Amino acid sequence: MKVLVIGGGGREHALVWKLKESASVEKIWCTPGNGGIAGEAECIAMDAGDVAGLVALAEKLRPDLTVVGPELPLVNGLVDAFERRKWAIVGPTKSAAQLEGSKVFTKEFLERHKIPTAAMYGAYDSPGSAYGALCEVDWPVVIKADGLCAGKGVFVAPNPDAATEFIERVMEKNELGAGGKRVMLEEALEGDELSFILLTDGERYAPLVPTRDHKRVFDDNEGPNTGGMGAYSSDDLLPEDLRRVIAAAIVEPTIKGLARDGIRYQGFLYVGLMLTKDGPKVLEFNCRLGDPEAQAIAARMDFDVAEVLSGVAAGKLRPEKLNWKSGASACVVLASGGYPGKFASGKEIHGLQEAAKIPDVKVLHAGTKREGEKIVTSGGRVLGVTSAGNSLGAALEKAYQASGKIHFDGMQYRRDIGRHRRKTSAAGD
Ligand code: AMP
Repeated sequence: MKVLVIGGGGREHALVWKLKESASVEKIWCTPGNGGIAGEAECIAMDAGDVAGLVALAEKLRPDLTVVGPELPLVNGLVDAFERRKWAIVGPTKSAAQLEGSKVFTKEFLERHKIPTAAMYGAYDSPGSAYGALCEVDWPVVIKADGLCAGKGVFVAPNPDAATEFIERVMEKNELGAGGKRVMLEEALEGDELSFILLTDGERYAPLVPTRDHKRVFDDNEGPNTGGMGAYSSDDLLPEDLRRVIAAAIVEPTIKGLARDGIRYQGFLYVGLMLTKDGPKVLEFNCRLGDPEAQAIAARMDFDVAEVLSGVAAGKLRPEKLNWKSGASACVVLASGGYPGKFASGKEIHGLQEAAKIPDVKVLHAGTKREGEKIVTSGGRVLGVTSAGNSLGAALEKAYQASGKIHFDGMQYRRDIGRHRRKTSAAGD
């Protein structure tokens, strides 16, 4: 089997790593890939959001299976373009990807199918109507830019002044770009957050092992939000009784609702939940694997990923095939100094080979590139040092031991991944 993976971060390196272990895979291309993926697959430079370019590439390469990592090509309709040509691809269609691409679409979907979520006050196309609506809401209120905003489109506003300022930035100063043309106001929920990630063929689904990520840049959840400074997986993040409630009240009605609306969803679905006193409620959907959750999930995979994903692309997922390593896993992100603010690139990375010698450790690359014999930094999140073990403590010990072997100028990482463990809070802290 020849496989094309789209994307170039740690999540895509994790997919390449596991696809490569499959006996049926003889060739992997990755576009654009990165410095680490280049050691395991053939990387092809291309913008992952360029649907026409990716179609032309696939026309040339003729992969047997294409797996999409990031949301942009999905929201831009890559899967639709492949399906029209009857090419096997894992990922939701453009209309299904609206579950991530439009907050208003998602809210209307949830309400139509009676899936628990925060009540919506309304959606507004002009700043005037959004300001006007602020007279009729309870505080705090949640303001969500409708479109894709790279994780910056949601604000829990404590009072009218803060709300007005956010609306002004989003709708008048266009600070979030086109994603902020329309905003939605919704009720603020209270509770612990939890994420539930699954794989579906549109009819059947298989939950992936539960994970938790760490969004703040510094230890003890200090500092600004990032794309994710680390993640871990351990079964006790999601007790069985809670898993059953989420499956019955949220996941199953979502999959049936999509099918009833005639929306084909084949791929990974990330469900962001708030565990309120009235039960779990949906905060958001993402139409892909999270990063760095994907790295922690991959470390526990004990099945033929190419076979399972081919099944998804053919509409024939076999949930019983997804076996998982018992124990736990961890991913420690090594980031550039200054991230998530300004940071320098082009720093040589040392110690990768020493780190790779530690058993059960896989150093997954995110913001790296090759320069001759050297691997240099090329992004904010540079590496995800990933490990599995019999216990969370064992997985963390190995991941940190390996992280200690690696260095580059300005390197920073959190020393407390896998700690702060509130049992039911898996969506980040
Ligand atoms: P979202 O992208 O919709 O998940 O929002 C990002 C973050 O904003 C969530 O992880 C929550 O921490 C917070 N959030 C979103 N919606 C709500 C809500 N209705 N009530 C309280 N917090 C929310």
